Amino acid sequence: MRVLIVEDDDLLAAGLVRALDQTGYAVDRVNSGERADLALSSETYDLVVLDIGLPGIDGFSVLKRLRTRGQTCPVLILTARDAVTDRVRGLDLGADDYMVKPFALSEFEARLRALVRRGVQLNSAQLVCGNLILDTLAHRAWLNQAPLNLTAREWGVLEYLLMRQGQVLSKDKILQAVCSWDETISPNAIEVYMSRLRNKLEPAGVNIRTIRGFGYLLEADDTTQHASA
Ligand code: CA
Repeated sequence: MRVLIVEDDDLLAAGLVRALDQTGYAVDRVNSGERADLALSSETYDLVVLDIGLPGIDGFSVLKRLRTRGQTCPVLILTARDAVTDRVRGLDLGADDYMVKPFALSEFEARLRALVRRGVQLNSAQLVCGNLILDTLAHRAWLNQAPLNLTAREWGVLEYLLMRQGQVLSKDKILQAVCSWDETISPNAIEVYMSRLRNKLEPAGVNIRTIRGFGYLLEADDTTQHASA
């Protein structure tokens, strides 16, 4: 999951980036409306956290431009005051949720998870493929009912694949989804993550197929799907 945080308060932004980093999201942060506009015009994000009070172009304008461009990614707005008019205006402009500062980090994370699920039309916190279960709420993975250890990056790649089962995903797309600006990861690194994930998952009948020239496809053996059904 790739997330853009638009927030001019350095301290708050650092806290949000740290929290999301730990959950395996790829996070970019900008501190002005102009930079947000630029980032949103050039990259694809799964989620945007948008402060309303920004220097220059405010959050409302950023949101308006985003929706005018036809971009439908979920947006969580942050407002400094509990002003009804701000919240109504944000929602009317196409925000999906809002939080009033100050807020608890745990609630922020829960709302983001809900928005991510809505963005990919999932209604459960559990992602399942054959004998593999990723619980995005508890942030734990199980394979054949045994806990599965994943690095933050492996988690990020696997969550992305699980949320898009049945789709062939290109290396570039995966790379863009799991890497933020301050990380330099080559497309070859994706192959390394895939091979590590395969070593962990294939004995349990969960396969990452390479579709030559197109990308990767996550699927479970028929037998394991029946066994877990
Ligand atoms: Ca602000």
